[in-house]
Amino acid sequence: MSRVSGASLISVTERGRAADALEAERFDLAIIGGGITGAGLAREAALRGLSVALFEAEDFAAGTSSRSSKLIHGGLRYLALGEVALVRESALERKVIHRLAPHLAERRWMVLPVRSRAALLKFRAAITAYEKLGAVERDDVHQNWGVEELEREEPALDRNEWRFACAYREYLTDDARLVLANLRAAAGMGARIFNWFPVTGISVEGGRAAGVTARCRLTGREVRVRASCVVNAAGAWVEAVRRFEDPGAPSLLHLSKGVHVGVPASRLPIRHLLLLNTDDRRGIFALRRDEIVFIGTTDTTYKHGSDLWPRVSRADVEYLLAPLAHYVVDGKLEPDDVKTAWAGLRPLVAEPGKAPTDISRKDEILIGRAGVVTIAGGKLTGYRPMALRTLERVGKVLGRALPEAPEGPPLPGGDFAGDLEPLGDGIAREHGVTRATGMRLARLYGSEAGEVVRLGRESLAASALISGEVDWAVTREAAASVEDVLYRRTRAALFEPEARNTVAEPIARRMAELLGWSGEKTSAELGNARARLAADLDFSDSQ
Ligand code: FAD
Repeated sequence: MSRVSGASLISVTERGRAADALEAERFDLAIIGGGITGAGLAREAALRGLSVALFEAEDFAAGTSSRSSKLIHGGLRYLALGEVALVRESALERKVIHRLAPHLAERRWMVLPVRSRAALLKFRAAITAYEKLGAVERDDVHQNWGVEELEREEPALDRNEWRFACAYREYLTDDARLVLANLRAAAGMGARIFNWFPVTGISVEGGRAAGVTARCRLTGREVRVRASCVVNAAGAWVEAVRRFEDPGAPSLLHLSKGVHVGVPASRLPIRHLLLLNTDDRRGIFALRRDEIVFIGTTDTTYKHGSDLWPRVSRADVEYLLAPLAHYVVDGKLEPDDVKTAWAGLRPLVAEPGKAPTDISRKDEILIGRAGVVTIAGGKLTGYRPMALRTLERVGKVLGRALPEAPEGPPLPGGDFAGDLEPLGDGIAREHGVTRATGMRLARLYGSEAGEVVRLGRESLAASALISGEVDWAVTREAAASVEDVLYRRTRAALFEPEARNTVAEPIARRMAELLGWSGEKTSAELGNARARLAADLDFSDSQ
């Protein structure tokens, strides 16, 4: 297997041939699910020389892994729940992800405003313990801010109420793009990776899982793929996949809905991540990314099953907006101020009797009746250690110890040193785009941004998006629908409040050229994307 970093994923035009080839091979590992859990596992397995086939039922990261808070964080809150090992693992992992993909792990200040010096000192004790667990470097050690620093760093904060703050470091990622980067890294080492290709069954021979059956949703083609080990990494859908192996498998998950809403930064001009308290004494946050400030998250038991698009209700929106008025000058916002919104399901491993907020974020690995390895729970931040723990079990199923492997080369787009700002400035200078566009491209594509610009630099519908992004999404990242490009490649649906509505049409037109869509198919694609965009902001449901 070659070790090229950042191969292209199998594009829609290549998939017929690629699917034909699947049946001729026997893989060490078949992975079900192309969220961060499956993607991270595919890369770690390929790094150890295993042959891998991965199937994703929808688009890559279409489930929870595009709807998270996008923080690579230790989870300070979990220290209070006594989860020291989990916090330590996550806190240490922040540095590794930053090394592998600096564009997908951007250092940010988390600002906890407090009213008194006494409250500040109390919090400092916790944060110092947290920093020790995470072996935090000197540059990243927390700072205590008084009125003067707050005036400079977070001028929108109401300083009559909040005269002090503790600022500590966490990292901002882009969840869906972290998934794509891991998948492309795995593909560069020979893994066969397919989106829009649900697994519909697990084949069992002599009582042992011997592969999977999958049906391509784009071509209708069904394949039977032989594999020595099958891993179920289907997130909120792990129970359904377990039942392919064992129809009587008991339930495992407690689903919790988490909502985020985005308001234009002009309406809520904060600079960092602000930690806020809600009336029911939970912690939420507001965080700026480009021209959007997103506020999250709710944490409520979800009883409607594992929906792909859980709805955002008016009550969710009001709950998230309410605390802002207590923290930010002119911070009283209305549901009409919300211009983007997304909801995801946390696939928590059930702990009967506990509220969702108190359930552990630990992962759990189960071996099923026919030897299928199921990995459930966990967090985006811990995807690599989760993959390593899963591989230990995979080794047992395969009957051989898997070799140790180093961290591996940087993820695609991650081979640059240091921070995003110089990269964004360099892109702007070299390619004659605005600094804001340079920063946006740097955040999405890292060191590959220049290649994206070379594919086409015309602005789409006078927005910050450029035409090369559509070509890149289709030819390098296997985008197959307008929704894929809006939601999980360019992230316009989440972070571009104006452009999300105007770029759908030029995206559809260019995809039609690249993929040979008919007029009818192009209109249907556009219609689907527009319906989806509108549904995001329809808060009439009470779910
Ligand atoms: P998913 O991303 O849901 O992937 C599973 C995939 O399996 C899906 O894409 C699905 O389509 C596919 N699938 C299902 N059935 C089949 C089938 N039959 N065949 C093929 N494919 C199938 N963690 C953090 O570290 N930091 C955060 O800031 C953070 N914030 C969060 C905020 C919210 C609101 C939520 C809900 C979670 C958050 N998390 C966070 C947790 C984190 O997002 C999840 O732990 C993680 O994304 C789960 O990834 P996954 O791959 O297991 O699941």
